Amino acid sequence: MKSAPAANPTKVRFVDLVEQARSLEPQLTDAVSAVFGRGDYILGESVKLFEEEFAAYCGAAFAIGVDSGFSALELALRAAGVGPGDQVITQANTFIATVGAVIAVGAEPVLVDCDETGAVESERMAAAFSSRTRAAIPVHLFGRAANLADLAAAAQARGIALIEDACQAHGARVDGARVGTTGIAAAFSFYPAKNLGAAGDAGIMITDSAKIDETTRSLRNIGQRVRYMHMDGPPLNRRMDTIQAAVLRVKLPKLDGWNSARQERAGLYRSLLVDLPLRLPESGAPGSHVYHLFVVETPRRDDLQKHLREHGIETGIHYPIPLHLQPCLAEMGHSAGDFPHAERLAAESLSLPMYPELPLEQVEYVAAKVREFFARS
Ligand SMILES: *Cc1c(COP(=O)(O)O)cnc(C)c1O
Repeated sequence: MKSAPAANPTKVRFVDLVEQARSLEPQLTDAVSAVFGRGDYILGESVKLFEEEFAAYCGAAFAIGVDSGFSALELALRAAGVGPGDQVITQANTFIATVGAVIAVGAEPVLVDCDETGAVESERMAAAFSSRTRAAIPVHLFGRAANLADLAAAAQARGIALIEDACQAHGARVDGARVGTTGIAAAFSFYPAKNLGAAGDAGIMITDSAKIDETTRSLRNIGQRVRYMHMDGPPLNRRMDTIQAAVLRVKLPKLDGWNSARQERAGLYRSLLVDLPLRLPESGAPGSHVYHLFVVETPRRDDLQKHLREHGIETGIHYPIPLHLQPCLAEMGHSAGDFPHAERLAAESLSLPMYPELPLEQVEYVAAKVREFFARS
């Protein structure tokens, strides 16, 4: 990052994880020390307790701790019996891990466009169902809960497994319920910068099905239901570390407060930016957006990003290349123009600084610099 002009030394970080960790001492250190004291480093006591606590938080019957959000998606697909020859539908405007999990199980990803706001379009997704479709993965992108009632009904009628990618939406609510309980399973990531973050890689899958729970527990641990008898294949290692669960147990009770803090910052951005020629994120019903990211849209995105950078403000682009134009997915045979909404969003989206501890004065400063950009040009 370039340094800000001397007259204005403000630096605004896009995300800062240090303050949150500081606010949780000595609890974090104590929780990690307790793992050293027990020596149960893998799938230990804290994993079991965190699984129970996270399932209860989401209103799901079961939660299975794994080593990443990617693995949670992968194991959900495997537990649903998805494999080679099957198609899995998802959207073109997601993080590549959604499609990576489909490829990992040997299935064929099929992409559809999002709606003009970037949300899942249930009708379009359902229209892509074919005789080979075995699963669909809608994504609660940026923390905004998608309403999946229609898609879930369409999937159920065709015997298609609906798996929710909730990796960016911990705690968001749809019709009063937490995201992740509409489909047969949902995946969450605890990558450190997510709304609930571990001290490294971790993830979890939730489900109401005892059968999926049992299969996933076995699949994450080399197919083992009884020691050294490997029932479920392929034999993989997707286990959660106990230290990560210990950290997550300290953080989970804070999640709703952090999400409220994100919503407060989003509200402030909105009130300060509302009259500018800039598209603000759809907010949806109260509580349905937990603002993993606060993403605005303008055709002048690159210049706006440059202007903010020159004033010491970090921003992000989520994501600059839609999946159908990613080099490693060229085999899918797509070209520019296939998914106009996803392509426009990739060209025009800019993520402004957002994290629960982001000082409100910094939100005001960012908004003032965005206003300055549009006033000057
Ligand atoms: C972060 C993320 C994932 C993957 O999570 P990891 O824990 O990094 O493997 C999957 N899907 C979406 C939408 C994500 O944001």
